[in-house]
Amino acid sequence: MTDRYAVIGNPIGFSKSPLIHGMFAQACGQDMEYTAIEGPPGGFAGAVDAFRALGGKGLNITAPFKLDAFAYATERSERAQLAGAANAMKFDGERVVAENFDGVGLVRDVTHNLGCQLQGKRVLLLGAGGAARGALLPFLAQAPAELVIANRTVARALELQAMGAAQANVRGCGYSDLAGQTFDVVFNATSASLRAELPPVPASVFAPGCLAYELAYGKGLTPFLRLAQNAGTRRLADGVGMLVEQAAEAFAWWRGVRPDTRAAIERITIALV
Ligand code: NDP
Repeated sequence: MTDRYAVIGNPIGFSKSPLIHGMFAQACGQDMEYTAIEGPPGGFAGAVDAFRALGGKGLNITAPFKLDAFAYATERSERAQLAGAANAMKFDGERVVAENFDGVGLVRDVTHNLGCQLQGKRVLLLGAGGAARGALLPFLAQAPAELVIANRTVARALELQAMGAAQANVRGCGYSDLAGQTFDVVFNATSASLRAELPPVPASVFAPGCLAYELAYGKGLTPFLRLAQNAGTRRLADGVGMLVEQAAEAFAWWRGVRPDTRAAIERITIALV
């Protein structure tokens, strides 16, 4: 019998997840279907109940339901707990297991696809929302020399600092504290790019040879990437690779086989142009 999976969000028409998982299923010879569900505002639990009643095996979760998914679960991975949010769920009878693969997907894209190791590097993370929280543990597992988290609301950056303090050299701060500092890798995990805005990061943060990574995707050269480029940064990336890699992690978790991601990254990049 064909196993059923889906992505749930609102709006959901833009989602590339059905395309990505369709490619993975075909490449790995998996008998599964993967659809998109537009969850009604305030109606996440009802929509998931209905999907499970029809035999659904697992879901990806996108905005605005990542917190609802975390609350809905009966078990939560450490990564999901730290992020306080879930982007994947697996159903097994009454058990609902929540995971968060955003951070591991991001690290895999940076280290494997882009060939940029974080070990020993000075890393700057802009933003302290869901994506930044999800990235915290996977970043620290790479043993950067220093991880600085800058956020508009400084208290949220300090919260992340406290979460990671036991494990590494982590520091939370505001944007004005970045003056005079340079970094080997700079991640924009703010949602500013979705509104074509620029977080107030000084152009001086980009060290020579720096990688500037924009988590948003399909937005072309965002104000953040343009700032990095104008500052002389040649290594620019957006979040397409992260999107595909987190999908591959979920696929492997559900199906026990990890798909190759190159073809999907190329296809999604073209689809977004
Ligand atoms: P959240 O809403 O959880 O967090 C938003 C963050 O952006 C907060 O830290 C907020 O600061 C900050 N922010 C918003 N506007 C501005 C601004 N104008 N200037 C400075 N800071 C700003 O969003 P997410 O963490 O879920 O998403 C962040 C980004 O990551 C989005 O672009 C999203 O598309 C992308 N993303 C990409 C994925 C992928 O697979 N490629 C997966 C998940 C997310 P404050 O705390 O002060 O409000």
